[in-house]
Amino acid sequence: MNSSVSGLDTLLARYVTGDVPEPVRVMLQAHLELSGKNRGFVRDLEALGGAMLEGLEPAPVGDRDKRLAEIFAQDQERPVPAPADTQADPVLPAALVHYLGHGLDGVRWRSQLPGLKVCAVDNPDGVEANLYWIRAGTAMPHHTHEGSEITLVLKGAFSDVTGHYARGDLSVADETVDHRPRAGEGEDCICFAVIDAPLRLTGPIGRFLNPFLKQ
Ligand code: ZN
Repeated sequence: MNSSVSGLDTLLARYVTGDVPEPVRVMLQAHLELSGKNRGFVRDLEALGGAMLEGLEPAPVGDRDKRLAEIFAQDQERPVPAPADTQADPVLPAALVHYLGHGLDGVRWRSQLPGLKVCAVDNPDGVEANLYWIRAGTAMPHHTHEGSEITLVLKGAFSDVTGHYARGDLSVADETVDHRPRAGEGEDCICFAVIDAPLRLTGPIGRFLNPFLKQ
């Protein structure tokens, strides 16, 4: 398991506990709308959080299977965001449309480089949220990060040293990732990215959940 995967797990745990900046919450909700990959994991974390709040006696740290078995025995199904409704924007998930107050047609793009357009969305609490439109086959400038960057693919796909990401996929890059994302051939790529998203868990719920996230 590489650092970006555990970074994503941590973000999802923070999402469950309500401990993420608004653009990150919107991004993760949009991810759950578009992709089924992490819905089960989020549901399990919600069950764990609920069990903790109900005072379930925790098993010894590291006894992950036993704890999970206890949780599953309770069969606490919690709702997760439903798939995007058919009335929504064909590209933007409903969570993002609600956040922006408009669909893709309302985005005011600014050209940044040949083949790359940007729209600054928001920057609360020191995080920076942007939409990117990358022309098919175009590579973004090579870069690394001082903080962390999470990116949700909304249309098309991109690839970098960490993998290939298609609609609904999340990429998590931190200061150890030095990359040059390139949009796939044949289709323009539209992404929602948040820079300096927190990747650490804090507080009592974080201390409870951390043993489940670190192998
Ligand atoms: Zn990056």
